[in-house]
Amino acid sequence: MKKLLSEPVRYLKGIGPKRAKSFSRLAINTVEDLLYYFPRRYEDRTKFSTIDKLREGGVQTIKAEILIKKERRSFHRKGFTITEVEVVDKTGKIFCVWFNQPYLKEYFKVGTELILFGKIERYAKRLQMNNPEFEIVSGEEDGRDESLNIGRIVPVYTLPEGIGQRSLRKTIKHALDEYLPAINDSLSFDIRARNTLLNLAKSLINIHFPDNFQMQKEAYRRLAFEEFFLFQLPLVLRKLKKKEKLGITHRVEGELVDAFISNLPFQLTPSQKKVLAEIKQDMAKPQVMQRLLQGDVGSGKTVVATIASLFAIQGGYQVAFMVPTEILAKQHYEKIKSQSQCVSLPEGGKVSAQASPKGAKSQGKELSIELVTGSLEKKKKEGVYLDIKYGKIDLVVGTHALLEENVEFKNLGLVVIDEQHKFGVGQRALLPEKGPNPDVLIMTATPIPRTLAITLYGDLDISVIDQLPPGRKSIETKLIDDNKREWLYSFLRENINTGRQAYIVYPVIEESFALDLLSAKKMYLEFKNDIFKDIEVGLIHGRLKQAQQDSIMSEFKKGQIKILIATTVLEVGIDVANATIMVIEHAERFGLSQLHQLRGRIGRGPYDSFCILISNAATEEAGARLSAMVKYKDGFHIAEEDLKIRGPGEFFGQRQHGLTELKIGNPLTEMQLLKRSREEAIRLLEQDPRLEARQNYLLRERLLQRFPEYEKLILVG
Ligand code: ADP
Ligand code: MG
Repeated sequence: MKKLLSEPVRYLKGIGPKRAKSFSRLAINTVEDLLYYFPRRYEDRTKFSTIDKLREGGVQTIKAEILIKKERRSFHRKGFTITEVEVVDKTGKIFCVWFNQPYLKEYFKVGTELILFGKIERYAKRLQMNNPEFEIVSGEEDGRDESLNIGRIVPVYTLPEGIGQRSLRKTIKHALDEYLPAINDSLSFDIRARNTLLNLAKSLINIHFPDNFQMQKEAYRRLAFEEFFLFQLPLVLRKLKKKEKLGITHRVEGELVDAFISNLPFQLTPSQKKVLAEIKQDMAKPQVMQRLLQGDVGSGKTVVATIASLFAIQGGYQVAFMVPTEILAKQHYEKIKSQSQCVSLPEGGKVSAQASPKGAKSQGKELSIELVTGSLEKKKKEGVYLDIKYGKIDLVVGTHALLEENVEFKNLGLVVIDEQHKFGVGQRALLPEKGPNPDVLIMTATPIPRTLAITLYGDLDISVIDQLPPGRKSIETKLIDDNKREWLYSFLRENINTGRQAYIVYPVIEESFALDLLSAKKMYLEFKNDIFKDIEVGLIHGRLKQAQQDSIMSEFKKGQIKILIATTVLEVGIDVANATIMVIEHAERFGLSQLHQLRGRIGRGPYDSFCILISNAATEEAGARLSAMVKYKDGFHIAEEDLKIRGPGEFFGQRQHGLTELKIGNPLTEMQLLKRSREEAIRLLEQDPRLEARQNYLLRERLLQRFPEYEKLILVG
């Protein structure tokens, strides 16, 4: 009978219901899943070290026999067991120690032969391996087919529960042998040839059981390419389709925009002008705009988005500007309102998109701007909704409340989404549906390198603001521990005395018993009643009523509050130029991008600014994050570090669920490969957008299997 890779792993020899269940917990259900379950690392067992050749500090593999086995309790920690085994080979002895894994003693018998892999340490005179990985060589388990485990490059896997390395190797080898004829390559011969890629069967064999490391690398390259390619296809397809989708041709030339720009209290930076030109060009075309605007915190994205809004408004369309928090919505609303006070629409200009721009003198009608948030009073809300529906409002700034079903537009022409990473994929897609194919501008302050952005946000066009407005003072970032509190308090006091303001951010609102963390609330009281008794201190967090948040923010803006204690409600967008100090408590609890966003709240005016990270305990990862913060200032570097530290799956998890599927390819280190995969995807889909050609049949099947949600996209022409 013909075998299929889609058959359940249960069909494999030696896999009973129990093992099948273990596999299934790691999402291995079919034979194909198993073949795509790649090793975590490899061990070169073509050469073992002998014990006499072990070097302190090296990570090495030995083969040795158990001489003595002991179990003892730790002197230092109660209930903590130590399993100790002394092993020998012909050249010497070494101790191996495992901490708190009492069950291990069942495995170890004097005389058992082990393969051990780990770091060699020295204690006094004795050499020791701590928690080495091990494999039992002699054992009842298998028919001793040692060709998989010894004398070759051996794969090491993350193990499913109850399954050992050797047994997993054997199962995978068995699957490879049995199902070899069923492995059909979904990458066409042409694509492989152009990119010098191995075929699939060879790649799968060599990713598991490489003949040498060169072959392993080739196999990896091919499988990473495949992964990227599958990931690119839907994005590219979406982008190609968009080119066909007709939207609104905006009337981008007009006096409204000119008047607005000449009324700004500053000059646009060359970088802002460049991205505006890109946006303008898009909006002037009949095709729908889907543009991502990247720019570091403080680079001035809001004003760019405001001008884009005016392109739409001057032609008689409405704009929806969505932001992630109420505070930010309010701030944008106020800013846009004040900036556009001096400009006005030509009378009747909004009735027809063809209205003559000549009438656009200042005697016209004022722009009508509204704020829509969840806390809007019901009465008011109903009124505003009606005004939006009947087109009386030109620009609505709001939170996700804008997504509500009963928010209807008369003629929505542009959607702006700020801080896109705060919204889910689904949420972002909803707002544009409220208009007749409106243009979409998405903004992010978590910028990534351009090549990477082009490929990862492959369905969007990309603009980058790569320059900050002039006159910004630099921000100095310091990492301190708790012992420096006295210094910190006097530093705060000094700066406040010279007229500046400060934020102090905590990861939690209220103290919790489980976590030993300082909370915003507790510290607020302590500051207010004790440490900064003579200074105005405020507290803001997400659980306060909106009206309260608003009044606190406005007191802070007016300079009545000097020190604002806060949670991460401050994270995005807040813009108070006089605030120059950002203190972040328990900094290790924040993600890198989050820290960078918080730091972006300062350095917005003409004063020197300071970001002070307080952290005591730190894991290695947290340490890496904090030192990246001290070392790097610009968001591109920060994002790159973040990607390195967290890995692509986590980093992009929210936006691109496809990417969480990336098991093997790392877009950061494989940028070139990623780029090629994109080029191939474009080439292919331009020729065969629905993957109907015979040579693309397998690919199409594979794509649908990986991303069932793209079925509509592919099938519906
Ligand atoms: P972000 O890109 O982080 O959203 P904002 O749009 O909040 O940045 O801009 C930060 C601050 O810089 C705002 O106060 C804004 O008014 C100001 N700004 C924007 N563009 C310029 C410019 N070209 N020159 C001077 N200040 C500017
Ligand atoms: Mg912003």
